[in-house]
Formats: sequence, structure tokens, C-alpha cells
Amino acid sequence: MAMRIGLGYDVHALVEGRDLIIGGVKIPHEKGLLGHSDADVLAHALADAILGALREGDIGKLFPDTDPAYAGADSLKLLAQVGELCRARGWRVADADCVIAAQRPKMSPHRDAMRTNLAAALGIPVENVGVKATTTEWLGFEGREEGISAQAVVLLESL
Ligand code: MG
Repeated sequence: MAMRIGLGYDVHALVEGRDLIIGGVKIPHEKGLLGHSDADVLAHALADAILGALREGDIGKLFPDTDPAYAGADSLKLLAQVGELCRARGWRVADADCVIAAQRPKMSPHRDAMRTNLAAALGIPVENVGVKATTTEWLGFEGREEGISAQAVVLLESL
């Protein structure tokens, strides 16, 4: 059986007047992430990890932010499209793990809902998607609450 590994990383700025959507969960907060789509930093990192393993570039190439079709797009739907591409190329997502870096708000109450959403978008068991979060101890842009970042790794197996 052939295997591939992929790494994804994404950052979005925190601004007033936007919803905070991470892993498909709308989290109550005074700020949200800025972006052309819903700016779901976690879904984007995971999608990029899969595209990396497929050697297919990144979501910016697949879903250009200059394309009005993706304005306000539900990133779980974009992730689902990446999952379909993955299967079409002869691979399946065997396992994934993700980490969110955010000083606030607390992500832990939403972790399982995020896992459920991401796994459902990819059509894989929830056991095969890990999500955790860390603060950055008030250091860097995440620590100053200027933005939130997310990283993901995936393992693909050939079908
Ligand atoms: Mg992004």
C-alpha cells in the first residue's frame, strides 16, 4: 500500500464585525476571522494538508480568492471538494491531526464538534480526525489576538 503525508498551515486576521468560524463551528466571540470565504482557518489548513499530500498545490490555487463564487464560502464545502479530489486521484484520508493556535477564546468546548464537522466533510470516521488547541502564551500575533493560525498533518493511503 502506498502512503503520502501532507502538511497544511493557515493564518487569518481577527477583526470586528465578522463571525468566528473554526472547524465549521460558529464560536461566540467579539471578533471573527477576515477572509474572502468564511475564513475557517482550520478547514483551510486541513484542506492544504490534503492538497500537499496530493501534490496539487493549495486551496488558493483551487479556489482563488479573486473568484466571486467563493465569497463567503462555507469552507467545509471546500474541504469536501478536496476530499472528492483526493478520492478521484486514488487516495483516501487515513488519518489527520490538527492544532489551532489562539490566545482566546477557549477552543476546547468546541473541539469535538470541529472533529465531527471535519470528518463528515471528508466522509471519514471521527476517530481519524484529531483537533487540539494551544495559546501562544501571549507571544506573537496569535498571543496579541491579531490573528489565529492552524496547522494540520494528514496521512493518505492509496485506494
Ligand atoms: Mg485561509
